[in-house]
Amino acid sequence: MMRLVFLGAPGVGKGTQADKAAAQFGICKISTGDLLREAVRNKTSLGIEAKGHMDRGGLVPDSVVIGLVREKLADSSNASGFILDGFPRTVPQADALANVLNERGESLDRVISFEVPREEIVKRLSGRRSCPKCQATYHMDFAPSKMGNVCERCGEALMQRSDDQREAIEMRLRVYEEQTAPLISFYENQRVLSRLNGDESVDVVYESLIRTLAAH
Ligand code: AMP
Repeated sequence: MMRLVFLGAPGVGKGTQADKAAAQFGICKISTGDLLREAVRNKTSLGIEAKGHMDRGGLVPDSVVIGLVREKLADSSNASGFILDGFPRTVPQADALANVLNERGESLDRVISFEVPREEIVKRLSGRRSCPKCQATYHMDFAPSKMGNVCERCGEALMQRSDDQREAIEMRLRVYEEQTAPLISFYENQRVLSRLNGDESVDVVYESLIRTLAAH
């Protein structure tokens, strides 16, 4: 049983690490960003409400994301644990998460804060491309598709996320500093936080993640 939160600015690689760890440990990855993008694609009322905030690089209102996560956590597929990727992002979200877990007599096992210098984050995000059909992700310089601007897996034309454009990136980093970074000391005070250097290759970061989890 493992209940984890992956914390970090956009572009630190927490989604990639969450995919690997979830597969290795047989637990669910719950990414609010993925859930919201899916709602936007399906044009649900939630998606329509979220889209404007997301395109600008701002946060979707707490009540909306808290509702989403509450629903997902109630799902029985989380029985052996979960990794929350991109949630919580504000103190009210962290409080709501603690309440939901508390109601079930559960608590977080560990919160991992992935740390990467700002210039590197901007490079990573601005080169990021993804497949709108199968959601595979690439990077123009660091992990290009072997088929150029087309998805290797399904042949669909790759796209840049609207919030990976320059202005939205700046906004997302500002929002992270102002609203999400305070969660580092929030969880440090609860003695569940581990900091990890994310400015390394995917495999090196993953090794230190596994070492950190094993140590706790
Ligand atoms: P991500 O894929 O995690 O970078 O999320 C993409 C966008 O979805 C963010 O820039 C926000 O607009 C929205 N979003 C994702 N998770 C949250 C959250 N926990 N709280 C508020 N907005 C969120």
